[in-house]
Amino acid sequence: MAAGGGLLDACGGFRSTIFDETSALAARHEAINLGQGFPDQDGPAHMVAAAHRALDAGLNQYTPAVGSPRLRKAIADQQERTQGRILDPETQVLVTVGAAEGLTAALLSVVRAGDDVVVLEPYYDLYAAVVSFIGATLRTIPLRPPHFRPEAQDIHNAFSSRATAVLLNDPHNPTGTVLAPDDARLIAQLAVEHDAVIITDEVYEHLRFVGNHVSVAATNNRSLLGSEPADLTLAHQVAERTLVVSSASKTLRATGWRIGWVTGPGHLIIGVRAVKTYLTHSPAAPLQDAVAAGLEDSCQWVRDLATEQGERSRMVAETLHELGLSVAEPCGSYYVVADYSPLYQRWGVSDSTELAAALIERAGVALLPISAFASPVNAGLYDGWMRVAACKQTATLEQAMQRLRKHLQ
Ligand SMILES: *Cc1c(COP(=O)(O)O)cnc(C)c1O
Repeated sequence: MAAGGGLLDACGGFRSTIFDETSALAARHEAINLGQGFPDQDGPAHMVAAAHRALDAGLNQYTPAVGSPRLRKAIADQQERTQGRILDPETQVLVTVGAAEGLTAALLSVVRAGDDVVVLEPYYDLYAAVVSFIGATLRTIPLRPPHFRPEAQDIHNAFSSRATAVLLNDPHNPTGTVLAPDDARLIAQLAVEHDAVIITDEVYEHLRFVGNHVSVAATNNRSLLGSEPADLTLAHQVAERTLVVSSASKTLRATGWRIGWVTGPGHLIIGVRAVKTYLTHSPAAPLQDAVAAGLEDSCQWVRDLATEQGERSRMVAETLHELGLSVAEPCGSYYVVADYSPLYQRWGVSDSTELAAALIERAGVALLPISAFASPVNAGLYDGWMRVAACKQTATLEQAMQRLRKHLQ
């Protein structure tokens, strides 16, 4: 049968991504690529050494589908250390092929065709793709410029009787914002009222520049959901309905290793496990072992990573501010967003997509338009706003800022 019809229809608009298209154009013009969010430095040396040793030691066959016992224990220990979550590595921890597979399997295990999935907008593109493959609908809570914080009315509006899942990404890609306690509490209350499962994407859990990251699933940490008796009940209700997704990609600078994980209550993990077993079974055995070594001994390395990322993000934000752009304060993740619309008139372009191409061709810097992370109805909200992936080495970021300076002064 000719390709087309069912398969291509089901894939809808997801045949290629803005990330790949921007990277290809950037390569053609030898632009500095601050588009796709991956680091240009390696993870901890002891983790890389552990990968070599694991190969030499013959760790070459399947691990259990739920993941290597050593890695599941290292993940449970890391969550206890950083969030105070007590997890049973046998029933509450699942190793996946990156956070990407964890998110996909979590959504497939919870959401059915016709359901609503509530999500902060702008959002990571995988969410919209998987939700559309399922035949469900995204209901977005727009984070509006210039501060990119959710408004209570927008949060209420996103919930209907069809809401079966809430996707939270905190710290947030692409905006660099961190969820405020009041907003987290309202979203959590509404999730409980609607009996919706919360799926939190915490791949940037360690990349927060002020204060410590608090997961909505952390029952013993009161700073997010409050400390009144009712809040404690809420915290327990939330923990019982929350799947936390994370990975080695951003925390240990290993995006190409494809090692991620999902943690949560056993009754939800069972469903995610059933799906993920038939997607990939399990990720590369030697790399699971190496990530375990990375997590077991990563505290200082990860603290230094966060300090360094904070410095880079602030440098980019300050430079763009000095150049007269409106910039959202980066509180976490890899990214700095700013409004580049002052360039529209100067360059004769009329929207963010044209601007992205012009930035590559004229300034030699590739950035991603925030509208590419938004639903078609809300894309206009973000017109002019672009994302810098500030996870590159300082010299590269400075060179890119120098190129922008020539056009913005
Ligand atoms: C990078 C990223 C992911 C994917 O993580 P992997 O572990 O590499 O699959 C998921 N969510 C967000 C928000 C990301 O930025």
